[in-house]
Amino acid sequence: MSTAYQIIDHRYDVVVVGAGGAGLRATLGMAEKGLTTACITKVFPTRSHTVAAQGGISASLGNMGPDNWRWHMYDTVKGSDWLGDQDAIEYMCREAVPAIIELEHYGVPFSRTEEGKIYQRPFGGMTTNYGQGIAQRTCAAADRTGHAILHTLYQQSLKYQAEFFIEYFALDLIMDDNGVCRGVMALNLAEGTIHRFAAHMVVLATGGCGRVYFSSTSAHSCTGDGGGMALRAGLPMQDMEFIQFHPTGIYGSGCLITEGARGEGGFLTNSDGERFMERYASTAKDLASRDVVSRAITVEIREGRGVGEHKDHIHLHLEHLGAEVINERLPGISESTRIFAGIDITKEPIPVLPTAHYIMGGIPTNHYGEVVTLKEGNPDKVVRGLIAIGETACVSVHGANRLGSNSLLDIIVFGRAAAIRCSQILTRNAPHKPLPRQAGEETLARLDKLRYANGHLTTAAIRLDMQNTMQNHAAVFRSGATLQAGVEKIQAIFNAFADVKITDRSLIWNSDLMETLELDNLLRQAMVIMNSAGNRTESRGGHAREDYPQRDDNNWLKHTLAWLDLQGQVTLDYRPVHLYTLTDEVEVIPPKARIY
Ligand SMILES: Cc1cc2nc3c(=O)[nH]c(=O)nc-3n(C[C@H](O)[C@H](O)[C@H](O)COP(=O)(O)OP(=O)(O)OC[C@H]3O[C@@H](n4cnc5c(N)ncnc54)[C@H](O)[C@@H]3O)c2cc1C
Repeated sequence: MSTAYQIIDHRYDVVVVGAGGAGLRATLGMAEKGLTTACITKVFPTRSHTVAAQGGISASLGNMGPDNWRWHMYDTVKGSDWLGDQDAIEYMCREAVPAIIELEHYGVPFSRTEEGKIYQRPFGGMTTNYGQGIAQRTCAAADRTGHAILHTLYQQSLKYQAEFFIEYFALDLIMDDNGVCRGVMALNLAEGTIHRFAAHMVVLATGGCGRVYFSSTSAHSCTGDGGGMALRAGLPMQDMEFIQFHPTGIYGSGCLITEGARGEGGFLTNSDGERFMERYASTAKDLASRDVVSRAITVEIREGRGVGEHKDHIHLHLEHLGAEVINERLPGISESTRIFAGIDITKEPIPVLPTAHYIMGGIPTNHYGEVVTLKEGNPDKVVRGLIAIGETACVSVHGANRLGSNSLLDIIVFGRAAAIRCSQILTRNAPHKPLPRQAGEETLARLDKLRYANGHLTTAAIRLDMQNTMQNHAAVFRSGATLQAGVEKIQAIFNAFADVKITDRSLIWNSDLMETLELDNLLRQAMVIMNSAGNRTESRGGHAREDYPQRDDNNWLKHTLAWLDLQGQVTLDYRPVHLYTLTDEVEVIPPKARIY
């Protein structure tokens, strides 16, 4: 090591890493239950990507027509193409109702109906009576729902006196010899100091890794740091081949146009002016599930019916809704299209294209949020001391394809579940056993190596190479040949990281170093995504193989697990899908063809 690093030690009952919706809901819940709680976050809490969520959060409140959590569960299982764990889906859909009422009481300023109830809009794949009708299930605060939720949760966390470590970058988990997680190492970005947090429970809530792709709706901070930490700790990631492409990113910038726009009556057309979704999903049409709509758009463009000079995108129409509806229900969309596409949506259609949006896979957990792994034949072996929630986790409630508005729900329900679980299994202010003797040393060696890295390739160049490779080899449609080439390219880029060069050697607000730490994490996510995708020889949900167009339940009704060792070697194995429910209040939904 070039210099000795001083370590500042902290002790808490619980350390939450991440202050998005998942992290804040957990932090608030832990603090409310009297556990000493620290929340570490690399960006200011209310700048987490959750703030960008537009359309809303699902719950079968039934404010705008009949609804039932069992219908919501059915839709979610079907949306997942049967890869979701049905016990966890039951938990999420049932707990949605009290969890949303709680949010309302915390002060989330939801839009209202005439009678003053929470306003709910239709969203893709959300139905009544097991697919018979269209449900109005998505609770919204105009088209700024994430913003409303995040600010409310931050205020509540402060009220319960959770301690925040803001602009601290978590580097690695501290694991002991028995495989128990004992804490986390972090770098204070502003001061350059090193912090070692001991905790009885570490909660990873670090969000997704959308930035592995070139065109992504995610914030630049969505770099899969939690996944990187888990992989370096020898833990697997689950179902990483399943990436959601949102049908309507603004052409060029990738900025998201919420599905709520179609929920309010928007529709898509091709170069013939045809509402082509009627051909692909005769019942749900423009409100079919996201994977279905993204594939339809891709096929239209491929077959020469795209719009624009290069015939390489599609039109989304909102003009017919009129300025009044647009201003009340979709003000944010109106603003972002003006800024990013120079368009007045009350007069012209929006140019759109499928864009990487959400990572269905993540760190495997059970429905309490506890991280699980496959060990000695047990596929549900709990990793003690570690919880993962939100987009970094895979519970799995989204399976092979997530329904819109189910992610805000996932982060709230499982953030809350994590707090409930910790209040059951932890003792407040319990004494801490000493940490393993060398705790954090490997992390500091890695940090130091990157800080003084003096190779030939810039971080930005390696990142761009990775993003282009992911965009070209693991997109909406995939095939054996493109995936095989992708696996080889990504491996080469992963290896090239050993030749990275950074120019700033300081520790104070060293954005060069921070981006390099993020790239390290992104590359690991890219490796497991590409290898998992190359391995799965079927089409299911977001994973569409042209060489294997059918879903294959005989061979592939199972979760992929992917480990990545420190030398860059990927190992794959499987866990069974939970085809059982949590209680007898609802029946298992057996696999069948998925038609909208
Ligand atoms: C544009 C957009 C619109 C969306 N709209 C909707 C919608 O309407 N409905 C819906 O259900 N879903 C929507 N989604 C999906 C949903 O918003 C996200 O999946 C969800 O908000 C993720 O929440 P999270 O708490 O897991 O992570 P995030 O909100 O991404 O937060 C991650 C947190 O982790 C912290 N962090 C990360 N790495 C580190 C590190 N190394 N050290 C310290 N801290 C770290 C960050 O600082 C941040 O606080 C949308 C997503 C996008 C991108």
